[in-house]
Amino acid sequence: MKQSHLFTKVRKELPADEVSINAQLLLRAGYIHKEMAGVYAYLPLGWRVMNKVMQVIREEMNVVGGQELFLTSLQDSKKWKDTGRWSDEVIDVWFRTTMANGTEVGLANTHEEAIAQVMINHIHSYKDLPVVAYQFQTKFRNELRAKSGIMRSREFIMKDMYSFSRNKEEHDAFYEKAQQAYINVFERLGIGNVTYFTFASGGSFSQFSHEFQTVSEVGEDTIYIDEEKGIALNKEVYTDEVMEMLGVKKDTLVEKAAVEVGNIFTLGTKYAEALNLSYTDEDGSVNPVFMGSYGIGPGRVMGAIVELLHDDKGIVWPDAIAPFRFHLVNLNKDSVQADSVYDSLQRAGFDVLYDDRSASAGAKLAEADLLGMPYRLVIGSRTGDKVEHTVRKTGKSDLYSVDELISQHA
Ligand code: ATP
Ligand code: MG
Repeated sequence: MKQSHLFTKVRKELPADEVSINAQLLLRAGYIHKEMAGVYAYLPLGWRVMNKVMQVIREEMNVVGGQELFLTSLQDSKKWKDTGRWSDEVIDVWFRTTMANGTEVGLANTHEEAIAQVMINHIHSYKDLPVVAYQFQTKFRNELRAKSGIMRSREFIMKDMYSFSRNKEEHDAFYEKAQQAYINVFERLGIGNVTYFTFASGGSFSQFSHEFQTVSEVGEDTIYIDEEKGIALNKEVYTDEVMEMLGVKKDTLVEKAAVEVGNIFTLGTKYAEALNLSYTDEDGSVNPVFMGSYGIGPGRVMGAIVELLHDDKGIVWPDAIAPFRFHLVNLNKDSVQADSVYDSLQRAGFDVLYDDRSASAGAKLAEADLLGMPYRLVIGSRTGDKVEHTVRKTGKSDLYSVDELISQHA
């Protein structure tokens, strides 16, 4: 993409109430727009990042048999009454409203009720199970505090996946697969080394749920890490009994602030029983379907990555989710050489942001640092017929011919 074509500009002035680093950097760089407190729009560069994050997640969910669908944001209050959740005491983050005819509707804050309702029409027999379905869809939550930028917003995209199994055994087998899929996701997104599989409180069908917690000073959660085992305990289950059960010792656990980037939860038959989602088993008996739910917030992941990977000049995107791999900056007066490098890289299949604008070298280079593409390519009077290649993360620079550049990155 030519930068002369990109409508977003870097900004100096920020909304006065923006306190989080991730939103400050993303706003300055023109990745997002703040509609109001806790409500952010994704602009072209930000939307590219978001899509890359979602694509990684999508691929891993597909590997474990997830079928992608798209549920609605307007939800039927009746189903929520059936599960006993149409209430501010049970769900404290609801946005609820009424249609013109007086019918009450909810704005989706989660989709267990909705997806169970879908499955009633499609799951009848044990032969139909297991089923795994997921979506990327907007959730609305009336969060009390929204001071963490895109890590906690009042409208956000969630990847929510739901599994439907015959019994606990079949569920447990899938749960383990989902766990591995999550590990793969965070590994591929470049935060695997700081993201811990964390034991948290469960429900009536299993003692624990599990969270994926990314260590960060700005995290709102507190976890206790056992480095050797590579696991952590959430504050809620940080008890002598649980420590003994998991074989960890209090004095080797390290307390850290962390961001919950994902979680997996055994729901059991709670929703199936309340909503009458059942199947006929081999022996003719009719049983409730055993459910699990699996969430990831791609926006929260993106925000956490910005919090972890930035310096005083700007964002430092990991390769996997950078909006463009290369930021090609032309400092020459004419564009003959830069145009040709841009064409070659595009023909070789790379994502390139090409700064073809006429601005000062200082301004263009500072902007490249702020935007944070992993590899900066500069063409100027001092680079001759070569290209200066600089790794954003390390600052390491080399002069390459275009062919060398392409083979280095192939
Ligand atoms: P938290 O305790 O942080 O509020 P939660 O337990 O409410 O999270 P879930 O309902 O399990 O979160 O949602 C699944 C995932 O969606 C979370 O792991 C997180 O990545 C993401 N998420 C939850 N709330 C938000 C939010 N307000 N903004 C952005 N992402 C969110
Ligand atoms: Mg919450």
